Amino acid sequence: MQITLAILKPDVAVNPHIVYAIDKSILRNKFLIIKRKRLRWPKARAEQFYFQHAQRFFYRRLVEFMSSGPIEALILAKRNAIQDWRLLIGPTKVYKTQHTNPNTIRGQFGLTDTRNAVHGADSEESVHEEVAFFFPEFDVG
Ligand code: ATP
Repeated sequence: MQITLAILKPDVAVNPHIVYAIDKSILRNKFLIIKRKRLRWPKARAEQFYFQHAQRFFYRRLVEFMSSGPIEALILAKRNAIQDWRLLIGPTKVYKTQHTNPNTIRGQFGLTDTRNAVHGADSEESVHEEVAFFFPEFDVG
């Protein structure tokens, strides 16, 4: 069993119907929801989380968006959770993904390349960092 860290971004977290649909998709795909937390990021928290992108053209837009409304962080567990969650959410860029991977979460619910519904940690190292970022009380082991 492996854990991963997911975020429901503000474009979907504001809508209970979409949160419900994503939850169904998570469970249908045999992930366990270990922990979840609904919160709002002050800009400084979003900047900290995405500091690796600080030089990218979309950084300000991303920080503004991620601090514009509620988000939900989830710890999900499954065998191959990191890879399987990335497959279930689909590629980053929504306009393309709507055509190439329409059944993924981003393909169904993403709005733009920035407002792309969800996040998924991309490595075990990221999972450790991101779980500590959202759930300092959780012992990853
Ligand atoms: P995430 O880290 O959210 O799972 P990712 O690993 O698929 O996404 P990254 O390259 O790490 O993608 O980018 C982080 C986030 O920055 C993306 O999820 C998206 O919201 C935004 N982003 C990335 N590329 C672009 C782009 N070309 N234009 C606009 N926004 C972008």
